[in-house]
Amino acid sequence: MSERADPWSRRLARRAEARRGEGLWRRRPTLAPGDPLIDFAGNDYLGLARDPRLAEAQAEGARRFGAGARASHLVSGHLAVHEALEQRLAELTGRPRALLFSTGYMANLGTLQALCDRHTPVFQDRLNHASLLDGARLAGAPSRRFHHRDLVDLERLLGRAPAKAPRLVVSDGVFSMDGDSADIAGLAATCRRHQAWLMVDDAHGLGVLGEHGDGCVGRTHGVDEVPVLVGTLGKALGSAGAFVAGSEALVEHLIQFARPYVYTTAQPPGVAAATLAALDILASEPEHRQRLRERIRVFRREAATLGLPLGASTTPIQPVVLGDNERVMRWAARLHDRGLRVGAIRAPTVPRGEARLRITLSAAHGDDALDALLEALASCAREEAT
Ligand SMILES: *Cc1c(COP(=O)(O)O)cnc(C)c1O
Repeated sequence: MSERADPWSRRLARRAEARRGEGLWRRRPTLAPGDPLIDFAGNDYLGLARDPRLAEAQAEGARRFGAGARASHLVSGHLAVHEALEQRLAELTGRPRALLFSTGYMANLGTLQALCDRHTPVFQDRLNHASLLDGARLAGAPSRRFHHRDLVDLERLLGRAPAKAPRLVVSDGVFSMDGDSADIAGLAATCRRHQAWLMVDDAHGLGVLGEHGDGCVGRTHGVDEVPVLVGTLGKALGSAGAFVAGSEALVEHLIQFARPYVYTTAQPPGVAAATLAALDILASEPEHRQRLRERIRVFRREAATLGLPLGASTTPIQPVVLGDNERVMRWAARLHDRGLRVGAIRAPTVPRGEARLRITLSAAHGDDALDALLEALASCAREEAT
């Protein structure tokens, strides 16, 4: 049977077998309304995804503008609600302009592809998000990866390739699998010395960090320090989509040249309307961010008491690095049995041997939820000790 299978069936079967053999086969849990598990795996840091005000704004946006945008931005899909959202995002981040993309993945692909070509060296933190690595690949640009958060290593790489052509340094703002933050001021100073541009993807900082929820770049570091800022709307802001913020010239350049911007249908207008509602809440209800900070503090204090291998993160992303894949799956299953969902993250998403539980905290978690999580983690640790 198998030797008669066509080449494609053989290829799929071979790759499936290899992945299963490594213990890396992935499954998608299907969540129904009223899902009984408490979610410590998502990125809804402020609890806005389930805020009825966003759902209402989304419905109203759809009624006014339609369920879909009907076309790309450059044709006839750029609606007044998109324009209003871009202005609000520019204000939030203290930049002259912002440009909406349908997803963060596309924002990164589009930006890197529009800015770089095969003669543009791109310097990436080695733990950068996959979409940043893929964006450089789409541009055909050579990516050089510096050690995680290591400015000396970056300096060394920049020094090796003198500045004849434009060069781009790229970093996550908050690293999605570790929860630690980039040293933005340090990166900016290094870039200035080498006349390189700095691009920061603040997917996990926006809405959470900064005095106004403006992220780890936002109004603290202007366009002179961080010329290219990416933010996403599907995490703390509870909706979907992304944006790139920067100078007038940058945004116009992206409109002209970013193929993942030009050749795609604009975001559904209801989603833009829901995001505007999220920005209103972010500005008028700082208590959600305060509550989130308090959740993080309690979790770290109690988890340290249990002797869990925590990372250096002070953000809502709290990895427990257990090392091998099976151990991670065992702990995740045990937490699942106790009604808790956490991310079980393995290679290739994180380096081999660094498999981890990715626990994310949210302002929406009550005391009971946090207690249940800590108790379940304690039970996993006890189980192993015996
Ligand atoms: C989630 C994420 C993205 C992708 O954003 P989407 O809107 O989900 O496509 C990009 N960069 C980072 C760092 C992320 O964590």
